[in-house]
Amino acid sequence: MAKITLDEAQTEAKSLRKKLDRWAEDYYSKDAPEVEDHVYDQNYNRLLELEAEFPQIVTPDSITQRVGGQINSDFSKVEHEIPMLSMGDVFSKEELKEFDQRMQKLVGHPVAYNVELKIDGLSLSLEYTDGKLTRASTRGNGSVGEDVTANARYIKDIPQVLPEKITTEVRGECYMSKEAFASLNKERDEKGEAVFANPRNAAAGSLRQLNAQVTKKRDLSTFIYTWVNPPKDITSQHQAIQEMSKLGFHTNQTGKKLSSMDEVFDFIDEYTKKRDSLAYGIDGIVLKVDELSLQQELGNTVKVPRWEIAYKFPPEEQETVVRDIEWTVGRTGVVTPTAVMDPVQLAGTTVSRAVLHNADLLKQKDVRIGDTVLLHKAGDIIPEISKVILSKRPKDSKP
Ligand code: NAD
Repeated sequence: MAKITLDEAQTEAKSLRKKLDRWAEDYYSKDAPEVEDHVYDQNYNRLLELEAEFPQIVTPDSITQRVGGQINSDFSKVEHEIPMLSMGDVFSKEELKEFDQRMQKLVGHPVAYNVELKIDGLSLSLEYTDGKLTRASTRGNGSVGEDVTANARYIKDIPQVLPEKITTEVRGECYMSKEAFASLNKERDEKGEAVFANPRNAAAGSLRQLNAQVTKKRDLSTFIYTWVNPPKDITSQHQAIQEMSKLGFHTNQTGKKLSSMDEVFDFIDEYTKKRDSLAYGIDGIVLKVDELSLQQELGNTVKVPRWEIAYKFPPEEQETVVRDIEWTVGRTGVVTPTAVMDPVQLAGTTVSRAVLHNADLLKQKDVRIGDTVLLHKAGDIIPEISKVILSKRPKDSKP
């Protein structure tokens, strides 16, 4: 980090916290993000960096010290006896190696990991009493979540009754498949309703509904990956997933128990390639110390478990040139601009159009005909212009 003074760090941290809090509010409460995840992550990591350099500037309410989610007060509240935490993340293989070295140092020997896909949805807790689903809740702020039991009754892959009369809690990810997301957005678009930015927001917006009948109409799914209080004979994460699967939970079977970083990197490379062809969105890979007793030993910080880490995929971007801006008038009279560009290959498909949603957004991004732009896919699916490369703007360009 370039040398800065305590005062400068303090000022920058304050402004980062303000920005991150506002983005988190939009993301978690309104299920409508204002910025892309990687923009949020960059700012978050800068704050982490400042706080690491100047520990005296850390405030207890800093977003780095708490789980970012919020609770909609219209839902009944559920207290999580065991907190639902966030997860640390890294953005390079180098940092993953450092994580592995840290684990080895802490436990004193090489460690095996269960390596799983990081599903792009929202966490969900399911509680069973004598084998019957009695409560479902969101993560909320980690200690208190929202009661979404009525909604969870309409998610087809959630077992309402288990084959054994056990009292237990499992956790996992509630998500919307890419296909369900595309058809929901198509339907909303045709009705002149606001479309969801990505499958994560669509899943959150569909589960967190006071009227469970809305959830019933949405095609939600789950991948269950955590057994909060497993029977004693279950000693590893890998085994827990297999046993939860036998109980009827929908689990993701791509996870692998791996004991070397080379194997982990191969797994990452494999899913970086396969990512676009999966039926659901993933935003990274999760490494979990496989042995449950070691997880206990390693414990948690205030915000994240020490024994797991997410490797986040870099955003896939392509450069192209805008050739036209088309205006279409919807059934309800809404006028939408669309950028028409030279076709490029992006995350598995050929893209030549990006919706700019409305005149305000067009003005804000200041996209002009002839501009070279950076293009990405929001939530892996919807082509979006990230920004205009101003240095390549033609001299005679007009707004
Ligand atoms: P996170 O979503 O990055 O990671 C933790 C979550 O991963 C867990 O709670 C769980 O729900 C999920 N998960 C998916 N697959 C899993 C698996 N196999 N095992 C365990 N957990 C799995 O962390 P977070 O605290 O929920 O949110 C922070 C992230 O949210 C940021 O990194 C950012 O990308 C995004 N965010 C974006 C904005 C924005 O404005 N775009 C705002 C706030 C947060």
